[in-house]
Amino acid sequence: MVSTTSFNTAKSKEVFAAAQQLMPGGVSSPVRAFKSVGGEPIVFDRVKGAYIWDVDGNQYIDYVGTWGPAICGHAHPEVISALHEALDKGTSFGAPCVQENILAEMVIDAVPSIEMVRFVNSGTEACMSVLRLMRAFTGRDKIIKFEGCYHGHADMFLVKAGSGVATLGLPDSPGVPKTTTNNTLTAPYNDLEAVKALFAENSNAIAGVILEPVVGNAGFIPPEAGFLEGLRLLTQENGALLVFDEVMTGFRIAYGGAQEKFGITPDLTTLGKVIGGGLPVGAYGGRKDIMSLVAPAGPMYQAGTLSGNPLAMTAGIKTLELLQRPGTYEQLDRITKRLTNGLLQVAKDLGHEVYGGQISAMFGMFFTGKSVHSYEDAKTSDTAKFGRFHRGMLEHGVYLAPSQYEAGFTSLAHTDEDVERTIAAAKAVLSNL
Ligand SMILES: *Cc1c(COP(=O)(O)O)cnc(C)c1O
Repeated sequence: MVSTTSFNTAKSKEVFAAAQQLMPGGVSSPVRAFKSVGGEPIVFDRVKGAYIWDVDGNQYIDYVGTWGPAICGHAHPEVISALHEALDKGTSFGAPCVQENILAEMVIDAVPSIEMVRFVNSGTEACMSVLRLMRAFTGRDKIIKFEGCYHGHADMFLVKAGSGVATLGLPDSPGVPKTTTNNTLTAPYNDLEAVKALFAENSNAIAGVILEPVVGNAGFIPPEAGFLEGLRLLTQENGALLVFDEVMTGFRIAYGGAQEKFGITPDLTTLGKVIGGGLPVGAYGGRKDIMSLVAPAGPMYQAGTLSGNPLAMTAGIKTLELLQRPGTYEQLDRITKRLTNGLLQVAKDLGHEVYGGQISAMFGMFFTGKSVHSYEDAKTSDTAKFGRFHRGMLEHGVYLAPSQYEAGFTSLAHTDEDVERTIAAAKAVLSNL
């Protein structure tokens, strides 16, 4: 375990300083830059199981898991060995491969709403494609999204879009024309009345409602009882589609995603993260009558050079196979509950106001005295305190997502000992905050 006094990140600093001259902000994706927690990001050298090693040789227990995909643990030996085998046959065909059928069948079997699926290369791509499909199917242009929900960085979704944007303090983004977001209506999460009002004001104009069925991009916020049911009913009554963005929750909240866990079946679903097993994969799928509009079966155009490539499909297939083994979700839930309860308890014992929770392998803790049901609630958090907590945990060998507005992730590789070490580190850090 790294002790605070010996914590040395000289090499990380050097690499990141160079990176800042080469890439905007020194990173390939904004949240990685630690802007919202202060200090400089650490540069990784390798990952394995529940652990990360940085370029200075420090070891950390990881609760980011490459933002979700590493649910079986980083670099799982069975995933790596399947990838070696696939690699020998080539990385991309740009033509059909058997692995696409295998992963498609697994996804269709697992996710209640999905009867047919299209593979893409990222969650962003899945969400922007599903939006086009919502509009193509209904012949309507407007959509409803929720404050604090993130659906990738496509123009139409960059309205009140949660973590990354929130962290940088950008209300929206320059470069997004008003005409693009005019049709994006927003409502507070967990607020059915607001959604009802939007439907009333825009009758026969709303293509559908898209949401994170459990929010992870405004910190961890679960749906309140009746919210998902209410959305299912409202969309049906108004001839609109219900879309679950399960890029984060798919195969994490349960094997069949949040829709399986809560027993609400949307019309369309987007996936990403876990189904790629650490390689770039996204997907959207749903009812056959809707998916049949997608080219070349139908007129809605969407394509991709590297989509469905055998390497990425292989990582996804092996990851889902591992998740199908008996007891995996029980284990994920047990370990995450132990972690979350431990963290909340230690914080409260030390006099900090915190609010948090977990479902399966997804968790969160806000530094606020308020209970958090929406992005507005989440924003009452003491983010400066979170920044100090984050830094302290890093110095004690624990890698948390570098923003108050991100969920935490556990994996099958996290042990009880890892959890105990994490809680002990939190106790040390929270004593001096
Ligand atoms: C991560 C995420 C996305 C975007 O996926 P990328 O692969 O980063 O483009 C979309 N929706 C949700 C809910 C996400 O968590």
